[in-house]
Amino acid sequence: MKINLKSMKMMNKRMILRYLIENGAASRMEVSRFTKLTPSTISRIVSELSSENLVEEIGYSDKSQIGRKPVNVSVTKRFLSSIIFNVGVEQTTVAIGFFDKSIKEIKRFSTVNLESFISTVNDTLENIKERYPLNHELTSIVFAFPGIVNAQNATVIYAPNLNWRNLNLRDVIKYGYRIIADNEANLSVLAESISSEDAKKSENIFFLYVSQGIGGGAMINHQILRGSGFAGAEIGHTVVEAKSDIKCHCGNYGCLERYASLILPVIEYEKNGRRLDGKTYTEKFKTLAELYAKQDKVARASLEGFIQYLSIGLINIINTFNPEIIIIGGGFNKIWKYFGKELYRRISDRAMPGVIDNVIFRDTIFETIEAPVSGANVLAIEMLINNLD
Ligand SMILES: [Zn+2]
Repeated sequence: MKINLKSMKMMNKRMILRYLIENGAASRMEVSRFTKLTPSTISRIVSELSSENLVEEIGYSDKSQIGRKPVNVSVTKRFLSSIIFNVGVEQTTVAIGFFDKSIKEIKRFSTVNLESFISTVNDTLENIKERYPLNHELTSIVFAFPGIVNAQNATVIYAPNLNWRNLNLRDVIKYGYRIIADNEANLSVLAESISSEDAKKSENIFFLYVSQGIGGGAMINHQILRGSGFAGAEIGHTVVEAKSDIKCHCGNYGCLERYASLILPVIEYEKNGRRLDGKTYTEKFKTLAELYAKQDKVARASLEGFIQYLSIGLINIINTFNPEIIIIGGGFNKIWKYFGKELYRRISDRAMPGVIDNVIFRDTIFETIEAPVSGANVLAIEMLINNLD
């Protein structure tokens, strides 16, 4: 980029906004110390951001020295930064996001089929518009999908477990706001890279998204690996059984997601008339994990394949991406807590010498707020910052 006065000013503006988003309210002096910009430059840019409704003054700083307390500046909560639809095979979560990265879940609805989904989305948007402040320039509508998504033009290329293809959201959601779509695992790895201390410091992170299917989000050298056809890191569709005749929704045979999703162990447990508590597969899987922890024999047998194939998926991730951290999450966010010990034992048996010593395995830090929901808001904020003029 050619550095001229205008682009320099823009870089400073973005830097100040990013500082306030990441660190919360701060006085102009604190921002100046961090950014190394002069107090007068900070004041000028803050006034500009304030006139654009992006920041506002809120109260006084506690970190005061003697004398007059400095005024704190914060990103505004006057408008939503995002309205989020985290689309799952069974259920869709609706949430709203703000510029300070806070999120509020609004509701959940059954995803059912494409027609009813689009109609529920439009009704929900109408409802949110009446209850919350939106801004045509600042608010984005973000969709997270289990599948291959062209993030540049908000098109679902193929969502295998929903059997939706070539769905351009900008064609079906007629709303005067920016519409963004991305893959749920990509958004999850983005959320972790901004929010968790170990991931912030890492260059290479992998998010293994386990739900009704299996997705992958790889962040390599701080960049999401989307691939040239947006199918990068689709670990769920790597083959783990070469001679398998189990056909996957993707068209291939023997894919990881046909062996290690949350569904199979539930079906296995329930096949002889037994029932697990819970309405969805995710809820039932949680019950099953608790039985596993209590050494229940049937639960252990039902989960054997899941653990075995998941450990193979993990070793494939290690040998392909060599990440510093592998984060597991999705439908049930405590897989490593319940099965980590056993998974690690099996990974160790197959790993090349020295390769897994420095790899951190853990569950996602996101529990109450789903990781793709948080990532969707981060993406909306990023887009907003990048589109500033
Ligand atoms: Zn597949």
